[in-house]
Amino acid sequence: MQPWRDRYLVFGAPYIGPEERAEVLACIDSGWLGTGPRVARLQRDFQAYVGGGPAVGVGSCTAALHLALRALGLEPGAEVVTSPMTFCATVNAIIHAGLTPVFADCDRATMNLDPAAVAARIGPRTRAIVPVHFAGRPCDMPALMALAERHGLRVVEDAAHAIESTIDGRHCGTFGDFGCFSFYVTKNVMTVEGGMVVCRDPALAERITVAALHGMSKDAWMRYGDDGFVHYDVVEAGFKYNLTDLAAAFGIHQLARVERLWHRRRELWDFYLRELRDLPLVLPAPWPANIRHALHLFTCLVDDGRTRVTRDQVLSRLHALRIGTGVHYRAVHLLDYYRRTYGHREGDFPNAEWIGARTFSIPLSVAVTDEDAADVVRALRVVLGG
Ligand SMILES: *Cc1c(COP(=O)(O)O)cnc(C)c1O
Repeated sequence: MQPWRDRYLVFGAPYIGPEERAEVLACIDSGWLGTGPRVARLQRDFQAYVGGGPAVGVGSCTAALHLALRALGLEPGAEVVTSPMTFCATVNAIIHAGLTPVFADCDRATMNLDPAAVAARIGPRTRAIVPVHFAGRPCDMPALMALAERHGLRVVEDAAHAIESTIDGRHCGTFGDFGCFSFYVTKNVMTVEGGMVVCRDPALAERITVAALHGMSKDAWMRYGDDGFVHYDVVEAGFKYNLTDLAAAFGIHQLARVERLWHRRRELWDFYLRELRDLPLVLPAPWPANIRHALHLFTCLVDDGRTRVTRDQVLSRLHALRIGTGVHYRAVHLLDYYRRTYGHREGDFPNAEWIGARTFSIPLSVAVTDEDAADVVRALRVVLGG
């Protein structure tokens, strides 16, 4: 296969504008790069955008999930139900919080946790649910919250894909006790590395802020900032999970542009839907009018009833044509550690496995030009013979 592109189309490349460049330089020139006023501003802006309770900036969504699960104060080993159709960080955070991950299968069309499957996995040791708003499509939060209410369970939303997602106008991440967001470099708002926890209970927001920085009662900006030196105490053995002002310098302007970029991804999304519909692919399912999809990932499933080309062949052939792709995700329960530790086998969660064996994601970021998107379609036609 002859590549016709000169430049490799990097999957998930961020758009970084002149505003971020200027803010990063201003942050450097201010002499304050650690956690300080720019993080405080991003927290305020994020809470204003998403709604719900206070937002606490942290070093990653993984840290956000860990701190949120820990803040629930559950007994060691308590069971937390989550989806096998997620990134491993969701599961690792449950494990690091001293809890036991229990999977419930997802729905094939929405790729989100199936509330009926969750209900079937609730037992005497179940204490929490971690729904993942897959690709930015909101989970059925009314059904999951009703289930949580009925069984006295806590809810931590993995909203890593879901900054712009809403249900009846209410943002994902504000339904449960906590909503955890990612600012990783491929996500819809990026700070290179970073994340945010939105907390329903302001008292728990305070605890998370303290736990995110060594358990210290005063953060460094309060100690060394322009109000003069203040002593701190350590109130618990905390973590080094803070977000930096240098990171927030990106995030402030990424967030300010989040709606405009959503509309651009919507154009790319509609283009892909239109141009790929006659290929042997299962394209993202339509969604009801009362929800808003964050359009984080455009996932395609290779339709093995209509083509003999495998998913892995699609990945390597697109790569040869200089198109970067992602796989979101192979079913988590079948990855080595979880399989060994929790005794999972093929067939345990057939919908997640079915998706995981067929799925690949094509470039959808705002760094993708119309020409790039046309190249993706052309490459897929070559690869799949459409
Ligand atoms: C990216 C991602 C995370 C982890 O986010 P980081 O900010 O990289 O720690 C967690 N869950 C899901 C579903 C993700 O996609």
